[in-house]
Parts: sequence; C-alpha cells; structure tokens
Amino acid sequence: MTGGKAKAPVPEILSFLARTYPDARVLLDFRNPFELLVATVLAAQCTDARVNRLTPSLFRAYPGPAEIAAASQAEMEEAVRPTGFYRNKAKALRGLSEAILKRHGGRVPRTMEELTALPGVGRKTASILLGSCFGVPALPVDTHVGRVSFRLGLTASKDPARIEEDLASRIPRERWWEFTTRLGWHGRRVCVARTPRCGECGLACLCPKCGVAARRPSP
Ligand code: SF4
Repeated sequence: MTGGKAKAPVPEILSFLARTYPDARVLLDFRNPFELLVATVLAAQCTDARVNRLTPSLFRAYPGPAEIAAASQAEMEEAVRPTGFYRNKAKALRGLSEAILKRHGGRVPRTMEELTALPGVGRKTASILLGSCFGVPALPVDTHVGRVSFRLGLTASKDPARIEEDLASRIPRERWWEFTTRLGWHGRRVCVARTPRCGECGLACLCPKCGVAARRPSP
C-alpha cells in the first residue's frame, strides 16, 4: 500500500493515537520531578529499562540534590557506572544538583527558561519535565517522535528544534504532550527505524511514506 498525500491529517492521527495508545507515558520510573530529571540524564545513550533497574538504589543512597551535590565525582561515577558514559553523567548530575540548590532552593523549576538554564538540560529534557510533572504543554522531540513525524509529513526537517516548531504549529497546544508520548510509542512499536511495519500500521492509509522500507533499505 502506498500513500499519495504530502502529509497525514492531524485530527485522524490524534484520534488513532488516542485509540491505540491511551496509556502512553514516559517509560522512566520516578516519584518526583528531581528523580525524573536524574533518570533523564542517565537515559542518554542507555535504555530506559537499564536506568529503571539502577534508580531505586541510587535514589535510596542519594534522595535529592543535596546528597548528589555533596557526593564526590568518584563516588557518583561509581553510582551511575552501569548506565554508561558515567564520567560525564556523574559530572552532569553533580552540576545540576548544585545549580538546583543554589538557584532554586533545592526544588526543580517549572518553566522552560529556568529548566534549560540548568547545566546540561536541553529543550527535550525540559519538555519531558514540563509535560510529565507539571502539566505544562510540551513537545519533547526524541528520535522516535522525529522519525515518525517526518514519515507522516508533519515536518520536512530532521532537526529537533525545527521539528518542534513544525509540530507546535500543527498540533493543538492542549494535545502536545499526549501527541508526543503516543507518537513515540508508535515509533517504538510499529514505525521503527530500519524496517517500519507498514503492513500492520493503523496510519498506513494516511501516511505518505507508507511502504518506505520496501522502497528504500534505510529510510
Ligand atoms: S509504519 Fe509505515 S505507514 Fe505507519 S507511520 Fe510508519 S512509515 Fe507510515
């Protein structure tokens, strides 16, 4: 099956995603904004499952920014080693914790501006925090959201910042968060990177790139 449209219609996409992935959520385990921030840092170049295996013991030993900021670099490296890139991650977590203590009295801030001013926090991480913890409309563009958005014709770009702009102009603001979490799930389960499962995709009749894997080995 091939789609003949330049882009799939947004209302139909939203409706499909709501029907298919009603329970989509962030896959990292957390109990508060600080834990999600730490887990998001650790998830760089690492699977969510591996991070989730580590964080219960990590948060028992280091329950908040005060404990992480007080830890030595060597101690923190050892604590996060199983997630890979542990030197950078340990440094990032210590710097982040210190900044949260000094600038925000130990509480994770609630605005995009304040979050992205923290060391090592980019728009994607800030958006995850805003959407997951604070109920603020946000569009975190990860690799899955970017890929499926491109295939559906919702963006012509592969640059996350530009993709976010394109999605922001097309998706109703109050549905930004549900859209990205659900689209991300679709990207992980069906519209996978190398060989998208177009034959079993509920968006196939709308998708301009349906059958892309059959036409090109590496879309
Ligand atoms: S799986 Fe295929 S049909 Fe479905 S969104 Fe991806 S490219 Fe389009």
